[in-house]
Amino acid sequence: APDANFARSARFHDSFLISPDEALEAARKNSAEKGLPEIAVSPAEGKLLHLLVRTIGAKNILEVGTLGGYSTIWMGRALPDGGQIITCELEEHHAQVAHENIGKAGLDKVVRIILGPATESLAQLQPGDAPFDFVFIDADKENNLNYLLEAKRLTRKGAVIVVDNTVREGRVADLSNTEASSEGVRKLLAHIKGDPELSATTISTIGERHWDGFTYILRL
Ligand code: SAM
Repeated sequence: APDANFARSARFHDSFLISPDEALEAARKNSAEKGLPEIAVSPAEGKLLHLLVRTIGAKNILEVGTLGGYSTIWMGRALPDGGQIITCELEEHHAQVAHENIGKAGLDKVVRIILGPATESLAQLQPGDAPFDFVFIDADKENNLNYLLEAKRLTRKGAVIVVDNTVREGRVADLSNTEASSEGVRKLLAHIKGDPELSATTISTIGERHWDGFTYILRL
């Protein structure tokens, strides 16, 4: 359950480790003002995505689920010259707000937003277009497995795929819970178990909002 102590702890750590970034703060504010749901990654998770991108030296990134572009900007800030992000978003209003936020962050040449259901957008991408080095999956959880399979098709060996919200306050592990999102994560886990080309781990998180987690997948 949410607890003021978790939020205080997150803020304490962030205050040492995360320098203020005008564009990221503006993106959060603008997204809230334009009525987007407050479901972007936390600053600490955004920084983790940023560090992962730098650590593996990713140049081509794929994101599924743009919302207001908050995580997109975190990853965009980690790219070397010539790096690119393709990010897929279903809702036109979200994509419009993301476009504004990404523009303010000076990343409009780096980020391409594809509007529409991600299953269709991904199906149109070809591995030759850009073998992706890093994929962040954070959209409708019922399609997680489909997104993972597309990510596999479009990445190089050694690529990293991160899937967000794979714990859901323990609901994923509670088989009496039949929400489509929980089922979507279970299907993802079952696939990874049987796929010798993937190696993965789930890390539980508790931060400003609630108990959740992400699954970190290495494409072998
Ligand atoms: N990655 C964002 C961040 O951390 O700043 C948050 C993404 S939010 C959790 C999920 C987004 O996925 C929403 O903007 C939602 O409209 C979008 N979405 C939902 N279903 C989708 C679909 N079928 N195809 C593409 N995007 C979808």
